[in-house]
Parts: sequence; C-alpha cells; structure tokens
Amino acid sequence: MIPVRAYFRLFTGYLRPHRAKATLLGALLLTTIALQLANPQLIKRFIDGAVAGEPASALIPIAIAFIVIALTHQLFAVWATYLAEQIGWSATNQLRADLTDHVLRLDMGFHKGTSPGELIERIDGDVTALSNFFSSMIIKVLGNGALLLGILVLLWLESWIVGLAITVFTVGTFLGLFRLHGVIVPWQKEIRATSAEMYGFIGEQVDGREDIEASGATEFMLSRFDAIQRKWLPQVIRGWTGWAMMWSASMALYFVSIAVVFVFGSLLFGVGALTLGSVYLVYQYVEMAHRPIEQIREELIDLQKAGASIERVEELLARESALIPRNDRRLPDEPLGVQFENVTFRYDDEAGNETILDNVSFDIAPGRVVGLLGRTGSGKSTIARLVTRMYEPQGGVVRIGGLATWDIDIADLRRRVAMVTQDVQLFRATVRDNLTFFDNSISDERLLEVIHRLELDEWLASLPAGLDSKLESGAGGLSGGQAQLLAFTRVYLRDPEVVVLDEASSRLDPATEALLERAVDHLLENRTAILIAHRLATVARADDIVILEDGRVVEYGERRRLESDPKSVFSRLLATGMNEALT
Ligand code: ATP
Ligand code: MG
Repeated sequence: MIPVRAYFRLFTGYLRPHRAKATLLGALLLTTIALQLANPQLIKRFIDGAVAGEPASALIPIAIAFIVIALTHQLFAVWATYLAEQIGWSATNQLRADLTDHVLRLDMGFHKGTSPGELIERIDGDVTALSNFFSSMIIKVLGNGALLLGILVLLWLESWIVGLAITVFTVGTFLGLFRLHGVIVPWQKEIRATSAEMYGFIGEQVDGREDIEASGATEFMLSRFDAIQRKWLPQVIRGWTGWAMMWSASMALYFVSIAVVFVFGSLLFGVGALTLGSVYLVYQYVEMAHRPIEQIREELIDLQKAGASIERVEELLARESALIPRNDRRLPDEPLGVQFENVTFRYDDEAGNETILDNVSFDIAPGRVVGLLGRTGSGKSTIARLVTRMYEPQGGVVRIGGLATWDIDIADLRRRVAMVTQDVQLFRATVRDNLTFFDNSISDERLLEVIHRLELDEWLASLPAGLDSKLESGAGGLSGGQAQLLAFTRVYLRDPEVVVLDEASSRLDPATEALLERAVDHLLENRTAILIAHRLATVARADDIVILEDGRVVEYGERRRLESDPKSVFSRLLATGMNEALT
C-alpha cells in the first residue's frame, strides 16, 4: 500500500524546518477546494435564475463572481503547487546531501561491491522519486481526496438519490482500480530493478572502455548489453500495458458515471424533483469528480514506487560502515610506529572464503623503514590497505602509534598516515589540481618548493605546460612511473608521519627510475615507512625486511642480518634476482 508511515518516519526530521510553509500550504489547499466546490453552485443559481426569467441585473453579479472565483482558484492552485514542490525538494536535497555524505564514509568493501551507476541511481533516482512523493501525496492525493469528499457531501445535499448513486459508484471505482493496481505494481518494481542494473552496467562499461576495447571484448559486452535490453523491453511493455489497462478502465467508468447522471437527472427533472440548475450542478460535480479519481489513481503508481525507494534509501542509510571508529581517539603527538599482531584478513567476510592474510605479525618502530616483498597476489597491497584502514582485519589487530586502527579518529589517521597506491588515480584536470586535490589554499610556491625538495624540477620542466598541464582521468597522460612521482608529491605536500609506498609493478625507464629513487629517499626522511617493492633496488634502503608468501610471513628480520645470512630467503633473492626467486 502507500507507504505514508514509512515516508514520514524517514522525513519528519527533514520536514520540520518547513512547518510554517506546510501550514500555509494546507490553508491554500483547503481554500482552493472550497473555491472549486463553490463555482457549480453559482452556475446552478445562474441557470435557475435565467429559467425563472430573473433580470440581467441579478444574473450579472453571479457571472462576475464566477469569473473571480475561477481566476482566484487557478492562482491559488499554482501557488500551492509551487509550495509543495519547494518543500518536497528542499527536504529531499538535504536527504541527498546526507546520503552522499554517508556513502562517502562507507568502507571500501561497499564501494567495490556497488557500481557507480547504481549508486547514482540510488542517491539521485530514489530520492527524486521521494521528492515527487511529497508534492504528489499532499496536493494530488490528499487535496483531491478532500475535493472528492466535498463533492459527495454536496451531491447528497442536492438529492439523496443522486448522492447515494454517485457514492456507490465512486467507492466501486476505487475498489476496482485498487485491485487492478495491486496487479500492476510488481511489474513496475521489476522495471525499476532492471533499469538500475542497466545503468550500473553502462557505468562500468564506460569506466572500463579502454580495457574492454583493448582486449577485444566489445562484442561480448555488447551481447550482455543486449541481454539486459532483452529482459528490459518486455518488462517495460508489460508495465505500459498495465498503465493502459488502468487508463481504459477508469475512462470507461467515467463514461458510465456520466450516463448515470443523465438517466437519473432526466428522470428526476421529469417528475420535478430537481430543477434544471440542479441537474447541471450534479453533472458538473460528477464531471469534476473524474479528475481527482484519475489523479489519485495515477499518483498511486508513483507513491508505490516511492515505497520501494524509501526501502532502498533506509537500507542504504542503515548500512553501517565496517569502519566506524569505536573510540575516535587521536594519535599521540610523537613519532608513530606500526604493528601487525596476528592479523588475519579476508576480503569477503563470510567464513570459508579465501584467507588473504594469515596470522601476519611485524613491528615497525617509529622512523624505521620496512621493505615488504612477495610474489604477486601474496597480499602486499592488502597490508597497505589495512594500515590505512580501508578495511579492518577479522582477526588480530593493526596498531599505529600504539592504538588499534579502529580506535583512531579517521580524519586524524588520514592526516598522519598516507599511501601511494600501485595504480595512481588521476583526475581529468591540471597537474596542479591533481597534486592538491583541488585545494586552492595550497600556493604554487609551496608546490614548487615540494617539487624541488623531491628533486622533481626536471620532471616538471618536461611537462608541456608545467603545473597547468592537463591530465586525463584514470592513468591517462602519464606513464606509471610519472604517475607515481605525482603521487609522491601529493603525499609530501601532506607531510604525514607514516607512509606506505606500493610501488608500481610496471617496468620503468632508467631516467624515471632514477627520479623515483631520489624522490623515495626524500619521502622517507624522518618517516616510518612500509615500502612495497617490486625491484630489489627499492628495498636497499629498508631497515627491516618482511617476505610474504600466500598471506604468511615467511621471513622477517633486519636487512643487514638477512643479507649476510646465506640461508635466508632474502639473500637467495639477492643472489638470483627478484623475479626469478619470487615469481
Ligand atoms: P601484486 O604484487 O600483484 O600487487 P599483492 O601482493 O599486492 O600483489 P594483493 O593485492 O594484496 O596482492 O592481493 C592479495 C589477494 O587478495 C589476491 O589473491 C587478490 O585476488 C585478492 N584481492 C585483492 N583485492 C581484492 C578485493 N578488493 N576483493 C577481493 N579479493 C581481493
Ligand atoms: Mg599489490
């Protein structure tokens, strides 16, 4: 049924600031209804007066009153609609903002599992359905309901036989339409689900265009597109058929009702029970009742849709981030160390899924640099994500500065712990905006100073327009190495105390490699660091070494000691080269 209760449960808070306007809206609505009901009474007076041969001087004021009332009614109706839309939209805009905020706080697990298109559909699509709900609900359903009630009361007053006949008829119409409605609603739901799927699919395809085209998967993707379309089309056709069934049923009922009026009217007029004016009045009211019935019926479909939307919005709001800090503590004002204590982690929380990290422990004292080695898929980037609290371990604990990551205020954590990911995300914007994340308060002098400090002046000079060079989104426009240089600068600007560098696995040209090496050296000065390395040169600067295999630590110790121990995995690695030993 119509989810009025759920709607107000969700919206009371959002509607409260608009109470004054809502009251005005109510008053306006009642006035427009009264005005609408008054006009046929004037026509009745006019017709009866004219039939009785009253002079024009008596009839003209009636005509003028009719026109004034009709105009005022229109004016008030526009005003009421405007108010209802305004209230509906300002309340739901607030909801949109809150939802966006909420979603941004959700964990990576949620974001990996929800496509961007689906998110847009849920935040914007569902909420738009709700903003329509308010104006439709108030104006069309409640307003028209009151109008209908007024019409019936006035008909009873005019003649009880007509009143009874039309009441029975109206109730019957509603019952019939409701029943039909119950059949159609599930069809509408299916359409909406498929359309969400479709937009999700399209969003993903647009995102992955390069890979799809490069791997020649276009045909296959098109066939999936086709499959969704094939599912969608019959659903839409059925949905519209349902709509047409409703429409024709209600039209048929309308014509029957007019016929009833003419039959009863002429009979009653014939025996002198009704005047000509009264017959016209009845006709006018019945004609007038058609529109509210029609509108209420149409709105019912929207209102039902709103039910599904409310459900989804509430579900989204109720979705708690797996990452809500339990304590919101601030990190201590001293150099920070990082500890992993028996950390066990799975991406998918359900038991039985693949364990990615198995009982991983190591302890990085403040200011020390740990080199993390392991073959592809061994869980290195996963460790980086746990340090930066993109995810939370299922077992054990990750500590920074002595605090468990889940106890740390997330903003504080982001300020003091930074990560350079393996594939750096660039925005379609200038190099400057890419470095500052669109923060205009960072001056060019500061940027240039940082670039200079990282010895990247040459790199900057090699860009076509310096800081103003435009980059493409994704990783377009820069090589993997260059993108990492840019990411280093980003991190250096923020000056965190703990850095996690997840080195790009792509091979670099020697010039970029040299630049990167020097930049890494500068970045590590006076910081605690985890260096995820794909090249042995990178770990040469590490104090300690952790070697990971299938999510387990197979070797952990001081680099120098491991180097000099011929039996260590690390020294074997040094002897045979990284690729040979690990991959
Ligand atoms: P590489 O050297 O290729 O960067 P890695 O050591 O960084 O590898 P991880 O990215 O940590 O490896 O991945 C470890 C395992 O976790 C892999 O088996 C991978 O398939 C899985 N994995 C990584 N990210 C996710 C994710 N978001 N959801 C589910 N599984 C994931
Ligand atoms: Mg990785």
